[in-house]
Amino acid sequence: MRMQHYIANTWIAPSSGESIPVVDPSNGESIGEIARGSEQDVGAAVAAARGAIGECFDGPWGQLSAAQRGRLLYRFGEAVARNGQELAQLEARDTGKSMKTARADVAALVRYLEYYAGACDKLHGETLPYEAGYMVVTMREPHGVTGHIIPWNYPMQIFGRTVIASLAAGNACVVKPAEDASLSILRLAALAAEVGLPAGTLNVVTGYGHEAGSFLTAHPGIDHISFTGSSTTGRLVAEAAAKRFCPVTLELGGKSPQLVFEDADLDAALPVILNGIVQNAGQTCSAGSRLLVQRSVYEQVLDGLAQRFRALRSGPPALELDMGPLVNRKQYEQVKRALAQAEADGLTVMARGELHPEAAAAGFYQEAVLLRDVPHAHSLAQQEIFGPVLVAMPFDDEADAVRLANGTDFGLVAGVWTRDGGRGLRLARKLRCGQVFVNNYGAAGGVELPFGGVKASGYGREKGFEALLGFTVLKTIAIKHG
Ligand code: NAD
Repeated sequence: MRMQHYIANTWIAPSSGESIPVVDPSNGESIGEIARGSEQDVGAAVAAARGAIGECFDGPWGQLSAAQRGRLLYRFGEAVARNGQELAQLEARDTGKSMKTARADVAALVRYLEYYAGACDKLHGETLPYEAGYMVVTMREPHGVTGHIIPWNYPMQIFGRTVIASLAAGNACVVKPAEDASLSILRLAALAAEVGLPAGTLNVVTGYGHEAGSFLTAHPGIDHISFTGSSTTGRLVAEAAAKRFCPVTLELGGKSPQLVFEDADLDAALPVILNGIVQNAGQTCSAGSRLLVQRSVYEQVLDGLAQRFRALRSGPPALELDMGPLVNRKQYEQVKRALAQAEADGLTVMARGELHPEAAAAGFYQEAVLLRDVPHAHSLAQQEIFGPVLVAMPFDDEADAVRLANGTDFGLVAGVWTRDGGRGLRLARKLRCGQVFVNNYGAAGGVELPFGGVKASGYGREKGFEALLGFTVLKTIAIKHG
């Protein structure tokens, strides 16, 4: 498998002739290569996108009506659904995720395509009351060409919530997928061409972040950047974009708390809390990675979770177990380092899952780990581990719970488990984050629900109609008619 860039509906070899190996995380073996994008390659993709939009929205994509764009995106969704099994297999092989997670990712992408296909012709401006003799209207125009830097944890879903929303708003896109997970995105670009998206509308340049990613961020032909990944890289992207006044959306992960009160329905809460940390082997920006439990039910909750942790199995994606391997050696070593730190600092492991006998020794497998009584200030309770590691700590009352929950640099999502409706509402207001879930966690993905963070979790909103607004510029037109 020797993949090239996908620019203007054509496979294009990297100008440098160089490539990057594609590694199967379940055994550490190389299964092919992707193109190593250069400044020249990024330039070619941006030029193609600018051509599709046109100088004054008069290019082959820029001139389509909203309804025509919607129809194309709807067809794109049908093509993704038809090719769902192949896409899921490609993703599972590339990222190590279990096939059941990969299939769920395809289903979510289809749903994004349906949602945004239907939304294209519902995105409009307003008529504003103003002084006599004036007619004032606002218009929502696309930025022009948007750049999308996508991580490796949920390539297809993040493609859905950023690239598809941007296309729906009328932009042309240049996408830089993660060097560890580019295959599904390349396949999706080819599918988009098959259903009729004009050449240059959707372009994919693969490569390293510090090369292709930073060339894209700095390129003057990019009118908006959407970035999903680490806070460290997000800061670099925002700084580079600020130098040329380019607007940015940042989705940077978190250390999201699950708060369990003594009146919670524990039978409902425990399986959801477990899934919130083991889904995609903990490599989820909104993973519920901090468990805060009221002291009176602390032992009961931990005992129940420990039993469930011990039953977890990690193994090859095709076995459809609870978890596959982590995405790459770097991620594997990062999680191992965090666990070594926990051991060195005398933290207590309450329970561990197991590796399946078919999990190859050379694969990047990490069993799930439950740590108890982790001090709030400890790095494991403060920093994103991005692996299947849940840290638990007790709290005394509501005020204590809020203080702990808000006490990290992050603010992406939070879960609250209580039968007291008033408390659920109070906490929903007091928690500093972009989404709060009361008696659930994640609301089953909800493509309609605006998503994004505060503080080091980033800014701007993806998903839902709100994402469309972020991919447009509001223009005000005042007409004096006398
Ligand atoms: P990263 O932020 O470095 O990479 C994410 C994307 O940014 C990739 O496509 C990468 O190629 C690109 N990139 C890297 N450097 C860049 C630069 N200078 N300019 C432009 N683009 C650049 O993340 P990582 O190194 O793959 O993972 C490190 C940590 O980030 C993880 O352990 C995890 O904590 C976090 N992470 C968060 C998310 C999320 O969904 N929020 C996703 C992946 C990783």
